[in-house]
Amino acid sequence: SEFVKEEFSRGTLRIKTVEDILTPLKDCFMLPSSAVLDFSTMSEVMQSGYTRVPIYEEERSNIVEILYVKDLALVDPEDCTPMTTITKFYNHPLHFVFNDTKLDAMLEEFKKGNSHMAIVQKVNNEGEGDPFYEVLGLVTLEDVIEEIIKSEILDE
Ligand code: ADP
Repeated sequence: SEFVKEEFSRGTLRIKTVEDILTPLKDCFMLPSSAVLDFSTMSEVMQSGYTRVPIYEEERSNIVEILYVKDLALVDPEDCTPMTTITKFYNHPLHFVFNDTKLDAMLEEFKKGNSHMAIVQKVNNEGEGDPFYEVLGLVTLEDVIEEIIKSEILDE
């Protein structure tokens, strides 16, 4: 019934976490903040097919900014504009969430905010040293919606 279906998909969203559905850091298409927006970098972005590109400093685990492909509309590859010129200009907010965030809470966050992408981090307290934030990957509204659709299909 519709009621059971709805309860099931709500249940899934209450139980599953962003960690269950994220795109792992190793699979994320990202660029370093030191990049220059020349022809080669701009082609790489276009060919990736993604609309948002996290920008990292030094290490891939250190995401500092986000580039939207539409930010490139007015960029001339001939100018070899530094990446940071563009990211500082648009300055899109970067959202971090913890790995144990439930999908229903994530969905609410996405609905509230203007960004539909979040960087997933966890507190790593394994090992000897001090605990630190470890970036696991990224999650988008699309990932959450996919999960809702999957749970509805399973239920049929
Ligand atoms: P897009 O609008 O770029 O297609 P979506 O939000 O529709 O992105 O997400 C589609 C899938 O791609 C999701 O699984 C999401 O986690 C993943 N994704 C989004 N951006 C990136 C990226 N820069 N690198 C790797 N995967 C990404």
